[in-house]
Amino acid sequence: MKNKGILFVVSGPSGAGKGTICKALIEKRKDLFLSISATTRKPRPGEVDGVNYYFLSEEEFLEKIKNNGFLEHAFFCGNYYGTPKDKVYEKLSQGIDVILEIEVQGAMKVRAEHPEAVFIFVLPPSMKELKERLINRNTEPIEIINQRLNTAAFEIGHVKKYNYIILNDEIEKAVERFEAIIEAEKCRIERNVEFINEVFMS
Ligand code: 5GP
Repeated sequence: MKNKGILFVVSGPSGAGKGTICKALIEKRKDLFLSISATTRKPRPGEVDGVNYYFLSEEEFLEKIKNNGFLEHAFFCGNYYGTPKDKVYEKLSQGIDVILEIEVQGAMKVRAEHPEAVFIFVLPPSMKELKERLINRNTEPIEIINQRLNTAAFEIGHVKKYNYIILNDEIEKAVERFEAIIEAEKCRIERNVEFINEVFMS
């Protein structure tokens, strides 16, 4: 029997670069599935429905909560975000590793339900650099940037609840660190008990 896939949960403040790291990793490795979240946030220029997010109205989002369609959901900086449940469980049961790129409240909900998941926190080199990245990204007005910076401090306060940090000083190095975590997790004894028993203990 094929092992179940591993659930990787990636958090980190806006501007830390977790989206860029996950995207680069997915392009490099075809054996991973990056979950597409639903949100009530309006699309940014260039964002495509069904690719970056499923963009839902608040009514549609609340309906999906009612129908138990989310693995987790959270309210973040004025918008709802949630992980559609079905696809994630489908991939895991097929033995495919899944990445959720979600904020801290949602990650803690996943942890309560899936303590076996791997929790990774992406950190910028400093708060100063984070602010500069958010300003240079030019995707939000200054009030939203300030709101996100305040939220960043709250999020970093939860870092010790995660299993790993990835320092994003350089994107290539950060992707390598992520891959190293994936490989290490695949080698854990508790994830290989069936294989060991089947091949060496029978
Ligand atoms: P953004 O608006 O910048 O795309 O995302 C804002 C925050 O929401 C980011 O920290 C992102 O990781 C998080 N996020 C994206 N999708 C989900 C989700 O499905 N659930 C939760 N809880 N957070 C999400």
